[in-house]
Amino acid sequence: GKGAAMVTAVAYRLAQQRRQIDEKLAPLKLDHKVLKDVKRHLREEMERGLKCESHKEASVKMLPSYVRTIPNGNEEGEFLTLDLGGGNFIVMLVKLPGGGRREASIFKKIYSVPENIQRGTAEKLFDHLAECAGELLQESGRSGRSIHVGLIFSFPCRQGSLGEGQLMEWTKMFGASGCEGKDVVTLLKEAIYRRNEFEVKSVTLTNDTVATMMSVAYTSPHCQAALIVGTGCNVCYMEELDKVELVKGEGGIGSPGEGEEGPRMCVNVELGAFGDNGSLEHLRTDVDRNMDKSSLNPGKQSFEKMMSGMYLGEIVRNILIDLTELGLLFRGVVSERLRTPGIFETRFLSYIESDRLALLEVRSILRQLGLDSTCDDSLVVKEVCQVVSRRAAQLCGAAMAAVVDKMREGRGVQQLKLTVGVDGTMYKLHPSFSRVMQETVRELAHRCVLTFRISEDGSGKGAALIAASRLSQDGKACE
Ligand code: BGC
Ligand code: MG
Repeated sequence: GKGAAMVTAVAYRLAQQRRQIDEKLAPLKLDHKVLKDVKRHLREEMERGLKCESHKEASVKMLPSYVRTIPNGNEEGEFLTLDLGGGNFIVMLVKLPGGGRREASIFKKIYSVPENIQRGTAEKLFDHLAECAGELLQESGRSGRSIHVGLIFSFPCRQGSLGEGQLMEWTKMFGASGCEGKDVVTLLKEAIYRRNEFEVKSVTLTNDTVATMMSVAYTSPHCQAALIVGTGCNVCYMEELDKVELVKGEGGIGSPGEGEEGPRMCVNVELGAFGDNGSLEHLRTDVDRNMDKSSLNPGKQSFEKMMSGMYLGEIVRNILIDLTELGLLFRGVVSERLRTPGIFETRFLSYIESDRLALLEVRSILRQLGLDSTCDDSLVVKEVCQVVSRRAAQLCGAAMAAVVDKMREGRGVQQLKLTVGVDGTMYKLHPSFSRVMQETVRELAHRCVLTFRISEDGSGKGAALIAASRLSQDGKACE
């Protein structure tokens, strides 16, 4: 009768909606073969990035860090560390006891970097850094003193030693003028000199990945790689020195040839740029491309844009707009709010996907975002978040697999046991990212047995460790 026909019509409409949602999400679901391809591809790009003859064309820059060794516990002294890379600027005073006692004591303050400073001028940006640093020194009773500085600068920098590095390109939300192509250590020293509140004895430059590896290696000696998945994403690892063709001279910490294993150097992969030469086009969806176009750096950081916290929320938002326009969500009405870039921060994705959260709570989160959802809506939103973050975790796992398998082969062993230092909000806060990432590495690099260890206050501690080894080594060189 009529009732049955209506039920059939409703069932038909639901099935059709389901099909449309599936269609939209299908390109974001990656199978084993695709991931294996990503691994192989990254491996090739890494080889190209390491070699002088192909370095220029390679999408991953494989930058030498001049860190040739992990800490030995004798690092000693007091250091001011400045960590710039995300929305916050973290300043720390780090004391290393030396004498084999591996416990750093830390005094830290977190400052914000307002948008007009992130994308203003070099002078304004570095003045801000110098001002915050001066304030922390004063609060810790060290004003007017001269101090060794560790600068953690989490952007691609071309270094020829530990004491300088040219910013190649801004990434993430930064874009201050007058910095690209310049030595960031000089920019910092000039700003500190202008403010004239304290003096620096030395500045040691490092990427956040390298600092994270060092800080975890301080207490886990098997740590020889690090992964960051936060606002941006990146990896570093200890590579056989003879493979790092870009290294100039013998500078850096740790003497070549030290230890029974061959000489090595930590390489900053600059993983985020993987795919910038078009090699990931087959994986990118319309949503990825649209998001890229409206980003601050179109055409750049392709891999990072599929993986890191700064972009995943935008991918989700763009998919939700598409689904709404298809009439599959929010009663077909795209609200002003949903049109607003940046409303889905990483922490919202993490909340929404949390298993402990009832649908009612998902709806209340969406309401806080100004999105009035039905129960069905909230289910779809949750599903979209899951698909987007799963893809990110799998891609991250495939990349990690490429790195550790390369390490294993370089060391000529059947099986490699390794600790990987990790940092970043995506990894630390998201309910399933780390699990899916680790499962993927196991599937794709089954000869590597990895332990992932989260680093707390990692970059400050790591930068201090690098600065301390550099000083003691320079000291020895003078004797
Ligand atoms: C930068 C890397 C950095 C990573 C994580 C990327 O955008 O290019 O240098 O390590 O973000 O902070
Ligand atoms: Mg950081």
